[in-house]
Amino acid sequence: MIKLFLYTLSFSLSLYVQANSQPNLIVIMADDLGYGDVGFNGSEEIPTPGIDSIAKNGVKFTSGYTSYSVCGPSRAGFMTGRYQQRFGFERNPQWNLTDPKSALPKSEMTIAESLSQVGYHCGIIGKWHLGAEPSLRPNKRGFHEFFGHLGGGHAYFPEKLRIVKTEDVKNENDSYVSYITRNDTPVKTTKYLTDEFSDEALSFVERNQEKPFFLFLSYNAPHTPLQATQKYLDRFAHVKDENRRTYCAMVSAMDDGILRLMQKLEELNLDDNTIVFFLSDNGGPESKNSSNNAALRGAKGDVFEGGFRVPFAMKFPKQIKAGQVYDHPVSALDIFATIADLSQSPLNQDKPLDGVNLIPYLTGEKKGIPHQQIYLRKFDGNRYAIRQGTYKLIIPWRGAPPQLYNLENDIGEKDNIASKYPERVRELNDLRKQWDSELIDPIFLGLIHTEAWKNRKKKKK
Ligand code: CA
Repeated sequence: MIKLFLYTLSFSLSLYVQANSQPNLIVIMADDLGYGDVGFNGSEEIPTPGIDSIAKNGVKFTSGYTSYSVCGPSRAGFMTGRYQQRFGFERNPQWNLTDPKSALPKSEMTIAESLSQVGYHCGIIGKWHLGAEPSLRPNKRGFHEFFGHLGGGHAYFPEKLRIVKTEDVKNENDSYVSYITRNDTPVKTTKYLTDEFSDEALSFVERNQEKPFFLFLSYNAPHTPLQATQKYLDRFAHVKDENRRTYCAMVSAMDDGILRLMQKLEELNLDDNTIVFFLSDNGGPESKNSSNNAALRGAKGDVFEGGFRVPFAMKFPKQIKAGQVYDHPVSALDIFATIADLSQSPLNQDKPLDGVNLIPYLTGEKKGIPHQQIYLRKFDGNRYAIRQGTYKLIIPWRGAPPQLYNLENDIGEKDNIASKYPERVRELNDLRKQWDSELIDPIFLGLIHTEAWKNRKKKKK
């Protein structure tokens, strides 16, 4: 009798565990953070104990790539798990409240739409930048909660925010000084924006600890405008350059929030079964926000490594051994594929993901490497990159002959060895063309095409 009771008990327990084993997912995305600006990539200038704790308790990816080298398209790739050039999202969208074309198309499934279908509670905090048209905002794309801004960047001090209603925002510049919204309701924020987002993340986790959740913590830091409070600036009084000092302060503020969030996971006993990814949405625009891409060549917008190889780490204590360093290329596109596999969330069979589940590679269960090739195309300018193993072929501008680099001994892409290896150049160029043939042209004009945006840049110079 006792045996039967114990058996029944253990059986129901195992059912209970199964039902509750769907891992939580937190994706923390920084905006325009330099490759060299986190402790785990060697920064000595900016201490980042919060961000570093993710790598320390999990894995640091030395070759982590985003699928584009500027914000909007990179986010469209992460959000769908697919190269965004497959569906024409290849520019930063213009602010447009009426045109559903200037947004992430409904024909693509988002990671939140997928996870919502298997019981996940999904939230996004911070930057969206995937279109402002009402039928395509976060709440219509699988997110139960949205606390943030729809445009590509934002002012950080509450007193700077002067446009209350989203409907009154006329262009991208205006969107920077509009109110933060909770879902579609404007909120009068009172704190430094990075702190607002961190506080909201802690609250999200507290409120949703009983169910599987997906939190996309999408900091707009350290994207311009360069603005930080005295509390964070004081930590970098020794940094002489004013812009760099402010940038360091902005990263430090974000790191404080991440540290608090990691502590909250432990406090709530969620740490073991929560996957946390940390990455930047593209490389640092060094000349604009004083970021530092370390030894990488180029910056945000480039097809060189500095454009799209980013600080990238993840942890999942339940399955992944702590303290790993993984050198094979991985992609931001892998995040969707990883969680879809673990949670058995539905996918669109007609639109296969370009990412893969990384976990079996990290446990050693699967041999080989996640990606034979990593690709990048920039339609405007006809620029390309393709990485295979340690070799990387790029077409730096329209019509230029391909360049070849071996990143293993030339991470700074200084020594073009194309003439020495014509066979490899041909092979990689053929793969590039084949991939290119699967893509479509951009479906909307970008920020770069608006007069206001061009003038704003001129004014700054
Ligand atoms: Ca960005």
